[in-house]
Amino acid sequence: MCGIYGYIGKLNAIDEVYKGLKLLQYRGYDSCGIAYYTKNALKIVKAVGALENLEKPNIKCNIAFGHTRWATNGEVNLKNTHPHISYDKAFTVVHNGIIDNADTLKRALKKSGVKFYSNTDTEVIANLLTSIKGDSDNKVKNLFNQLEGSFALIIGCVDKTIYLVKKFSPLNLLVSDDGIYISSDISSLPSGNLYSLQDYDIIKIKDNIVTNLNGNSITYT
Ligand code: GLU
Repeated sequence: MCGIYGYIGKLNAIDEVYKGLKLLQYRGYDSCGIAYYTKNALKIVKAVGALENLEKPNIKCNIAFGHTRWATNGEVNLKNTHPHISYDKAFTVVHNGIIDNADTLKRALKKSGVKFYSNTDTEVIANLLTSIKGDSDNKVKNLFNQLEGSFALIIGCVDKTIYLVKKFSPLNLLVSDDGIYISSDISSLPSGNLYSLQDYDIIKIKDNIVTNLNGNSITYT
């Protein structure tokens, strides 16, 4: 089933994520996508079907994250392919898992005027982040109060802050001399210092500094 892969560091992030997603292919997927930061913007490429269908951008950047999807909510098509962006473009999300109360949350968001472009539960997470009050840390923390179900998330903000969030779906962080790697599957990671996120962990990565917002320490193995 599906996968998440991310990279922050001095190597070409798009290449690292593409290679990582290839290593996750054995799990099966129906579509794929990568978000990457250029100097001034966050951009996205997506494709239905195999990774080979993805038009890999020929630019060098230092932060990227990607997804291989196994559709659970919403049919297989380009609109439903991850990454998903909040309606105000502030948050970009890849997600493994299923949000059980997505329909209820979506109805409430729609009532308050939020427009949706996909049929996924994942877009609900992105739009929920925008609608929750407070700064980004508070918004992300609040997800645990609102979302029912399973979720491993990478959330990218416009200021290049990256959040990793985990509940009932695996997510791992690896720090090496080459940079910071993120994967839903340990077997796809290179060697380095590994931390497997615990349920309710929120890892924040900003300017290469890694912190755990839930108060637990990050103990690498
Ligand atoms: N529930 C999400 C979707 O259908 C994520 C599925 C997955 O884990 O790939 O888009």
